[in-house]
Amino acid sequence: MTDRRTELQANLGTVHERIATACADAGRDPAELTLVAVTKFFPAADVVHLADLGVRHVGENKDQEAGAKVAELPAEVRELLTVHFVGQLQSNKAGHVARYADVVQSVDRPKIVKSLDRGAGAALAEGARHTPLEVTIQVDLGEGADAGRGGAVPADVPALADAVAAAEHLRLRGVMAVAPLGLDEDGTAAAFQRLADLSARLRADHPEATWVSAGMSGDLETAVTHGATHLRVGTGILGARR
Ligand SMILES: *Cc1c(COP(=O)(O)O)cnc(C)c1O
Repeated sequence: MTDRRTELQANLGTVHERIATACADAGRDPAELTLVAVTKFFPAADVVHLADLGVRHVGENKDQEAGAKVAELPAEVRELLTVHFVGQLQSNKAGHVARYADVVQSVDRPKIVKSLDRGAGAALAEGARHTPLEVTIQVDLGEGADAGRGGAVPADVPALADAVAAAEHLRLRGVMAVAPLGLDEDGTAAAFQRLADLSARLRADHPEATWVSAGMSGDLETAVTHGATHLRVGTGILGARR
C-alpha cells in the first residue's frame, strides 16, 4: 500500500504539471496562479502532509468540519497556511467562519457581508484573528439556467462589492465562481470569460479586487486560459471524496 504522503506528493506533482502546461499554452506565468487545495472530507492529517509538501493555501466548504479541522492543526502548521472558506454560507454561521478563516470566497448577499464584518470585528477584538478578513464575491455564472450553485447574479455584484469595500473588518479581493453544471468545454470557457469581463469592470472601481477564483479539478486548464488567478482543486490532489 502506498503511503498517503507519497500519494499526495504524486497527485500534487500532476496538478502542478497541468498548471504549468496550461500556463505555457496561454502564455501566462505560473507564478500568477495560486493553488488552493480543497481538503473537505479529508482529515487534518492530510492538511499536515500537504503543508509539508509545500502547499500554503487550503480550502474548506462546511463550517462545522472546517472549524474543527483547523483547530486540530498544530500551531506551526496553521501559521504556514492561508485558510479559504469556499462553501455556501448561512448568515448565522458567518460569524464563526470569521474566527478561523483567512479568506471567505463565497460572499453572495448583503446579509453575509454584515455577519462576516461583525464576526471578524469580534474575532479581532478578542485576539482570535489579527488581520482583516479577505473576501471575494461569488458570482452565479448560470444565467438563470443553473441556480443553486450559489453566487450573486452579475447585476448585483457592484453593490455587493461596494458593501464589502465599505466594511471595516473586510478586504475586497475579487471574484469567485463555480462553472455551471452540464456545460461542455466551450460553454465553460464562455462562463469563465464572463467572469473575467466582470472582474475587469469591477477593478475599474476597486483596483485592489484582482483575484479571479475559477477552475477546479475538471476545468483548471480552461480557467487558466480565461484569466483565473486562483484554482480550487480538491479531487485532483486528495483523490475522490466518499
Ligand atoms: C469541492 C470544491 C472544489 C474542488 O472541487 P474538485 O472538483 O474536487 O476539484 C472547488 N470549489 C468549491 C466551491 C468546492 O466546494
